[in-house]
Amino acid sequence: MQKHVLSKSTFIRGLKCSKSLYLNKHNRDLKDELSEMQKAIFNQGDMVGELAQQLFPNGIDCTTKTFYNFEDAIKKTQLCIHGGKKVIYEAAFQFNGVLAILDILVKNENGWKAYEVKSSTSISKTHINDAAIQSYVIENSGLKLEDVFIVHINNKYVKKNELDLEKLFTVTSVKDEISKIEMDISKEIENQKKILNQKDIPPKDIGPHCTSPYNCDFIGNCWENIPKYSVFDISNLSQEKKFDLFKKGILKIDDIPTDYPLSKNQKIQVSCEQSNEKIINEIKISNFISELQLPLYYLDFETFSSAVPIFNNSKPYEHMVFQFSLHIQKERNGKTTHYEHLAVADGSDPRLNFIKNLIKSCRGSGDIIVYNKSFESSKIKQLAEAFPEYEIELKQLISRIKDLMVPFQKKWYYKKEMKGSYSIKNVLPAMINNLSYESLTIKEGGMASHTFSQMMSGTFKGNNQNARKDLLEYCKLDTLAMVEILNKLTLEVKCI
Ligand code: SF4
Repeated sequence: MQKHVLSKSTFIRGLKCSKSLYLNKHNRDLKDELSEMQKAIFNQGDMVGELAQQLFPNGIDCTTKTFYNFEDAIKKTQLCIHGGKKVIYEAAFQFNGVLAILDILVKNENGWKAYEVKSSTSISKTHINDAAIQSYVIENSGLKLEDVFIVHINNKYVKKNELDLEKLFTVTSVKDEISKIEMDISKEIENQKKILNQKDIPPKDIGPHCTSPYNCDFIGNCWENIPKYSVFDISNLSQEKKFDLFKKGILKIDDIPTDYPLSKNQKIQVSCEQSNEKIINEIKISNFISELQLPLYYLDFETFSSAVPIFNNSKPYEHMVFQFSLHIQKERNGKTTHYEHLAVADGSDPRLNFIKNLIKSCRGSGDIIVYNKSFESSKIKQLAEAFPEYEIELKQLISRIKDLMVPFQKKWYYKKEMKGSYSIKNVLPAMINNLSYESLTIKEGGMASHTFSQMMSGTFKGNNQNARKDLLEYCKLDTLAMVEILNKLTLEVKCI
């Protein structure tokens, strides 16, 4: 048997970038380390794959005992096919030096059907290429496929009592899409084999392919000469213009010519960087502040999500609230009182207690200040749909929400330290010297979400009590940050 040199995933990698293909084979040490959150995404993908097997129960699993020895899996697959098995998981095939492992292979009265499982909620071009190379290998190994399907998550599904796998998954035939692919797969395989046999790393420059349709895992290596803050950080600048500047040898924002075509907000970012000046639109900011109704309720939520819904009346990937922090301020720039809520991570639905505490803590008439209104509003709306008995009170909360992000998003206030971003993580250190997320154990929402998810599933490896303390500290800083930012804005525009 010819030893395989490519796998389905390395072939897809090669389509994206020849250098990535080469480095993955010969210089694996240059790969970026996987973050805990990336590992969690991979684990979730594995879990979805195992769950989808239940759509076709009682299959034979051809998984190999060792990761690099696939010959046993290929032999076992052939034995299953010729031994009359109807459902095979992780079926392994090899042709022309390419190894393909298929998630689920099923035989019915019409013939064999291939199913590839994805934890995404839609089908991408990469998924079609992926299914195309699978079919190429399987069919050329001698097994005719009647159809090829992609099984993915249906994000419209609402869980009611038992998980309904038929509704959780969408099964879509991609046979027609595969037949429309113009790529000559045999030629591409030969091309990739040649690249892998080269002595030197292919001379491929960085480009939009590094981050699209997903981030390459050699970015740390290939982008090491790009400054930490560069033309690639200009807010909403098109990839075309970013790489146009890069090709002209312009990496620092300081070096962008004054006549380079940019939008109004991009010009503010570039000119503040070059001149060291800051922007304050006093009229707009004063109007914004004077319209806020006291007392002010500074509110922030933390959420977690999972591909497979855990609780009744929830959907795949729905952001489930588990924590809030609230600072209440009765007078402009006055003292604050702090309230907080953090669900017990015991696997039970955190939403009902969250709703009750939220309504109780926000009782009153003042404005609710959040940072990025669409997030908090949509979470409250989802709660109102899932728990209609609280709909009226929850919708009243939505009507009181004001967005502190607006003055920064609209660049009414901008300092070069914000680095083109209006995220609170950039705005806070740019405005307030002694407050920052840097000293916290949990520094951003993704980490909070990941920590709580692990505590819920019982897979958290740290100390739960310490983690709860870290979660409370993180969320508290989010609302304290809003208090301090609004105080500072009020003082700067003398709106007190
Ligand atoms: S970072 Fe970009 S250039 Fe480097 S290997 Fe990845 S895709 Fe290729």
